[in-house]
Amino acid sequence: CGIFGVLGVADASNFVALGLHALQHRGQEAGGIVCHHPEHGFNSARRFGYVRDNFTSQDIMQTLPGPIAIGHVRYSTAGKKAAVIRDVQPFFGEFSMGGAAIAHNGNITNAEALRKELIERGSIFQSSSDSECIIHLMARSLQKGIADRLEDALRRVEGAFSVIAMTRSKLIGVRDPLGVRPLVLGKVADGWVLSSETCALDIIGAEFVREIQPGEMVVISDKGVESSFPFRPQPSKFCIFEHVYFSRPDSIIGGRSVYESRRQIGVELAREAPVDADLVCPVPDSGTPAAIGFSQESGIPFALGITRNQYMGRTFIEPTEQIRNMGVRLKLNVNRALIRGKRVILVDDSVVRGTTSRKIKEMILDAGAAEVHFRIASPPTAWPCFYGVDTPQREKLLAATMSEDEMRDYLQVDSLKFISLDGLYRAVGEATGRSNSCPQYCDACFSGEYPVAPSDMIEKGFQL
Ligand code: 5GP
Ligand code: SF4
Ligand code: MG
Repeated sequence: CGIFGVLGVADASNFVALGLHALQHRGQEAGGIVCHHPEHGFNSARRFGYVRDNFTSQDIMQTLPGPIAIGHVRYSTAGKKAAVIRDVQPFFGEFSMGGAAIAHNGNITNAEALRKELIERGSIFQSSSDSECIIHLMARSLQKGIADRLEDALRRVEGAFSVIAMTRSKLIGVRDPLGVRPLVLGKVADGWVLSSETCALDIIGAEFVREIQPGEMVVISDKGVESSFPFRPQPSKFCIFEHVYFSRPDSIIGGRSVYESRRQIGVELAREAPVDADLVCPVPDSGTPAAIGFSQESGIPFALGITRNQYMGRTFIEPTEQIRNMGVRLKLNVNRALIRGKRVILVDDSVVRGTTSRKIKEMILDAGAAEVHFRIASPPTAWPCFYGVDTPQREKLLAATMSEDEMRDYLQVDSLKFISLDGLYRAVGEATGRSNSCPQYCDACFSGEYPVAPSDMIEKGFQL
């Protein structure tokens, strides 16, 4: 998901709508905005679909006045049915000291246990979302201020959370102690901005100030930014997959350009798994920077062998297998004139179920390619993510049951190679690779080493 908040500008909701539009790649299912105006109080709008189709119309935007607003774009995570509008964030609650809204990116790994406990104690849940626990925990807190209640609530929560909250006069940002999901602070005119990624600061002309640190809470008001570290400090575990796929290439994360990390992955891949061929083609768009790096390092010409229809969303966000299967053809097409008779290296960011790779291989062979070699910009995805990226159950992950050679045979390609974990770490700036005693990132979907035990899933029988 993507989250964005603004304080201290006229018509903050318009800024939030633009910010959410720039974060649309983080979730395309639905979006929502909550705002506050001194006379008109709290207002909100929640809609399915793209930001640009909803939060551009005057009919909606004029119902969202005021100098403070937060917003959320969402995609639902594995196992959940298609969302209902009640599941669309931000969530709002009235407390004795006033109203508050929260927008959450990440996934709470003990949400089911918390929900059960809260329901037994009288909470009335409105949605099926794990994030709603936070509002109910805040309601039960004995603290006097809303920021203190949020802090109290988050101390009970396990897993990954970047949260943006608002009251009538304050904008609050928090990152979990591991810092799994991103969150940055920006400045626009006399106002302040919180955003999942820096690309959404650029769109409103905001200046990047700094990242919110893992375990940090910032409370922003007309007095400025107050920072605190309410949680027990832990070694940070930023999601390495944000560098590979999830974030936008024009964002800066941990002081590094995402584009540059991805290009460097391609460079590492070309060193680790060279192959003689005529063309390096990206699987657009997510494979493009890595393909550029592969081509630069290998000297094999870069070419756009596959064209992407710009009017389709990200394939993996489609909820059912059938639509996902169709999705590849609706979204991607091969440039036959270019491919015919050529030995082609295809570079993609990841193999999850293998659906995309299989279809693409068929399309490339149909177009008359002489050889097809896959090079993948992440290690085999053998484990599900429980921290807010939508991966299917373990059984559906190709790499959970097959070795690299078995996957190559299954996909019927001439060769298939994944970047090594160490190579990936080098590409994101860790010169000596992965520190196996204390990895610098979360890489659980590749290594199976979960930095937070996924307790709800273990309860349901998931085996580490
Ligand atoms: P597959 O067809 O192997 O299931 O999906 C692989 C494609 O889905 C890749 O091209 C990649 O761009 C995209 N993808 C990236 N990240 C994810 C993710 O977290 N989950 C899923 N299901 N697909 C992803
Ligand atoms: Fe990111 Fe993978 Fe960790 Fe999930 S399991 S947070 S996708 S690195
Ligand atoms: Mg892709």
